[in-house]
Amino acid sequence: MKILKIDHLGIAVNDLDESKKFWSGILGLDFEGTETVAEQKVTTAFFPVGESEVELLVSTSPDGPVAKYIEKKGQGIQHVAFRVDDIERALEELKAKGVRLIDEKPRKGAGGAKIAFIHPKATGGVLVELCER
Ligand code: ZN
Repeated sequence: MKILKIDHLGIAVNDLDESKKFWSGILGLDFEGTETVAEQKVTTAFFPVGESEVELLVSTSPDGPVAKYIEKKGQGIQHVAFRVDDIERALEELKAKGVRLIDEKPRKGAGGAKIAFIHPKATGGVLVELCER
């Protein structure tokens, strides 16, 4: 498995317009637009930072994973995403090492990326996303 870089930080927020005031308005990051991933019940908003991005996550439904995260832990960093060169191979390698995965197979994420999550119980409490674009 080859990790190429931190692709993005996923940050759970309640209100996109409110959060944009900080990330764009105060920090001056470019706002690249939003995309809704219906099956994850989430709208994402991207702010490129150098070779990585800040990804704000707003739940589209009270029973979505981001809404549940905020209910339990409050707003904040929800996951760290690493870009890999070959996500299928990375997942095979992790499975062979007995690492607990949320996704055994890649699914479709924002921006047409292939993504998969490693279970936080296997990482010391961090929800880790692998993504390939
Ligand atoms: Zn992500």
